[in-house]
Amino acid sequence: MNEADFLHLRDEIESWVRGPGEIWAERIEAEGDVPRELYDELRDKGWLSLAAPVELGGRGIPFSRYLELLEIVSRSHGSIRMLVHVNNGIWRALAPFADDHQLDLVKKAVSGEALVAFTLTEATAGTGNDLRSTVRRDGDVYLLNGEKHLITFGVKCDYWLLIARLEGSSGSDGTVAFLVPNTGLPGAEVIDDSDTMGVRGTDHAILRFTDTPVPADARLGAEGEGLTVALGGFLLPSRISVAMSCVGLAERAQELALEYALKRETFGKKLAERPVIQAYLAENYADIQAARALILHAARAYETGAPDAAQLSSASKMIAVDMLGRVTDKALQIHGGQGYWHRNAIERVYRDARAQRFEEGTNEIQKTVVARAILAEARA
Ligand SMILES: Cc1cc2nc3c(=O)[nH]c(=O)nc-3n(C[C@H](O)[C@H](O)[C@H](O)COP(=O)(O)OP(=O)(O)OC[C@H]3O[C@@H](n4cnc5c(N)ncnc54)[C@H](O)[C@@H]3O)c2cc1C
Repeated sequence: MNEADFLHLRDEIESWVRGPGEIWAERIEAEGDVPRELYDELRDKGWLSLAAPVELGGRGIPFSRYLELLEIVSRSHGSIRMLVHVNNGIWRALAPFADDHQLDLVKKAVSGEALVAFTLTEATAGTGNDLRSTVRRDGDVYLLNGEKHLITFGVKCDYWLLIARLEGSSGSDGTVAFLVPNTGLPGAEVIDDSDTMGVRGTDHAILRFTDTPVPADARLGAEGEGLTVALGGFLLPSRISVAMSCVGLAERAQELALEYALKRETFGKKLAERPVIQAYLAENYADIQAARALILHAARAYETGAPDAAQLSSASKMIAVDMLGRVTDKALQIHGGQGYWHRNAIERVYRDARAQRFEEGTNEIQKTVVARAILAEARA
């Protein structure tokens, strides 16, 4: 895509977010559901396949330029951001491990024909190598047992990218990834668990499997590579993407705060004339710019294969998420009591923002990643 086409696309996304995107946001909040038509609209516009390479059917937009687009989309409703972010990223986990048959499915995920849910978290384990869901090979199938929860798109998706472990294994060694079709397999129970605080309308599932036969050819990568599929090359760019999502949402919060401060008058003066409100707005501005600069630095490190790319990715997510918390809090405060009411957009922005602290690893985990890396350097 040449620069002129890219800028045209950026403008197109920006005006959609301000216009139709806001109407969708109101509808999602009112109905508590992301209708299929919205998914289809995003797919038809090609916004679910921005970042994937051309050979997979994507538009091949380089990562740091894609981030510019994600930043704009993230000013929109949390569920719209979620759809765009997940669909533009899941191929990174799938493609390196897919065989020829599975590559067709990856292309369907890229084009938006198939929705794939990332299925790792469990109620009785940490999100990683102590996972407990098991599989046992039985001829042409693996029998799957266990429970997953908090799975975004887990109800409506076409496939679960599900990580389990070989029965009797422990640690990362016996983990296995599968593209399990969400087609009513025997022993598979899907419980709708979508009543969340924010990112309303996106479905979430609890999944229970009892001796569910998963076709052996649904395995992605080798036995033992499950967590490499789930976390390997996927997590690093994904964390940077979530960080940029925080910037987009913070920009929206700041925009709403500025509008309100310029409009609302107390004791004969606009809020915007009060030094304390000006200080909040200035702090928000600086906070957003600082996070954005670090994220772009992390993105360049990833693109150039710099050795510190992983720790920069975690550091950028850590900083961006905290920034978003501060910015949305001050933006809501500037709205006064009005900000606490559903009818004002800042209330939704505030709720949507909180979800980002869990995505692609909590801040506690990002701090662990960064500390491990910098301590290893210091010890060397
Ligand atoms: C809106 C939303 C959507 C989600 N979508 C998905 C999805 O699509 N697929 C999926 O697989 N998961 C999904 N998750 C789950 C998410 O990945 C987890 O919530 C996250 O990894 C934290 O795991 P947990 O909830 O089990 O918290 P816990 O592991 O119970 O952690 C509780 C607290 O302790 C901290 N903690 C835990 N372990 C450690 C440790 N070793 N060291 C220091 N601190 C620690 C955590 O950071 C957290 O603050 C989603 C979550 C949310 C909120």
